[in-house]
Amino acid sequence: MTPPMTPAAVCAASRRAAPVRPAKSGPYRIVARKGDPDFGDDQSVRPVHVGHVVVGGERPVVIAGPCSVETRAQTIAVARAVKAAGADMLRGGAYKPRTSPYDFQGLGRAGLEILAEARAETGLPIVTEVMDPRLVEEACRYADLLQIGARSMQNFPLLREVGRCGKPILLKRHWAATLAEWLCAAEYVAAEGNLDVILCERGIRTFSQGEYNRNTLDLNVIPAVRRETFLPVIVDPSHGTGVAELVPSASGAAIGAGAHGLLIEVIEEDGDPAKALSDGRQAIRPSALAEIVRRARLTASHQTERTGR
Ligand code: PEP
Ligand code: MN
Repeated sequence: MTPPMTPAAVCAASRRAAPVRPAKSGPYRIVARKGDPDFGDDQSVRPVHVGHVVVGGERPVVIAGPCSVETRAQTIAVARAVKAAGADMLRGGAYKPRTSPYDFQGLGRAGLEILAEARAETGLPIVTEVMDPRLVEEACRYADLLQIGARSMQNFPLLREVGRCGKPILLKRHWAATLAEWLCAAEYVAAEGNLDVILCERGIRTFSQGEYNRNTLDLNVIPAVRRETFLPVIVDPSHGTGVAELVPSASGAAIGAGAHGLLIEVIEEDGDPAKALSDGRQAIRPSALAEIVRRARLTASHQTERTGR
C-alpha cells in the first residue's frame, strides 16, 4: 500500500495537475479577451447555449417576436409565424420597462404563462425581460434566456441576482453606455459565476433622433466588442432604428459587421402596427423577417468561407 501523502506533497501534486492561469486584470477582467489563455489572441468566441440553440457559432441566431405579450392569440400567432420564417428563438415582454407609468406595463405572470405555451407549441426557446431582482426566480421558471433591458444595464443588484440564477443572460447596452461600462455590467454577471452572457447593441442616443429614426444603431461597436471580449454579441435593429422600414438594411449591416445574431420585433402578418400596445412603429411582418433570415444566413456563410471561421 502507498503511504498517505504529506500536505506539502498534496499541494505540490495539485499545482502540477492544474497549472495556475496567469491572472487577468482590469475592470472587466473575467470577460476580457486580453490575457485569456483560451480566447486571448484572435476572434474566437465562447458560445452560449440556450436550449438547443448556440449563440456565437458560425450560424447567426435570430430571436424574434412581439415587443409585448398582449394576448394569447397574438403571441401564439406570432410565435408560429416567426418559426416558419426561420427564427431560432421567441422573444416577448411580460414585464415592460415603459417611460410613462401610465403606459401598458405588460401582463406580468400571465404573460410568462403565454410564452411558455408558445414554446410548447413551437419548440422555440423563449427570451423575456426581467427588471426586478425579486422576480428573477419567477422569470427563471419560465424563460430559457433572461433579458436585461437597456434601462437596467447598470442595476447592479439585478446583475448580481441574474449572475446567480443559472440561466443565460441577454445583456442590452444602455443608449448612453460606453463599451467599458457595458463590459463592466457583463462582468457583474460573470463575477457571480455566470459566464453565459450574450451582449446586445440596441442603438444609442445621438442628435439624430425623430427625424428619420428613433435611435442610432452603433455598428462601430461590434468589431470593438469582438476585440475586447470573447462573449457573443448580437444586434437589435428594431430598437436600434425605431422604424420598421429601416430594420432589413440594419439587419444586413449588423451581420456584415460581425454580429452573431439579431433580435427583431415582429407583429402578425395582418396585424395593425398602430394598434400594438408598444413599439408598433418598429415592428416588421413575418414575411419581411423571412427575407432578413435568408440574407443573414447567406452573408454569414460567405463570411465563413472568406475567413475560415
Ligand atoms: C425590448 O426589447 O422590448 C426593450 C424594451 O428593449 P430596450 O431595453 O433595448 O429598450
Ligand atoms: Mn420593444
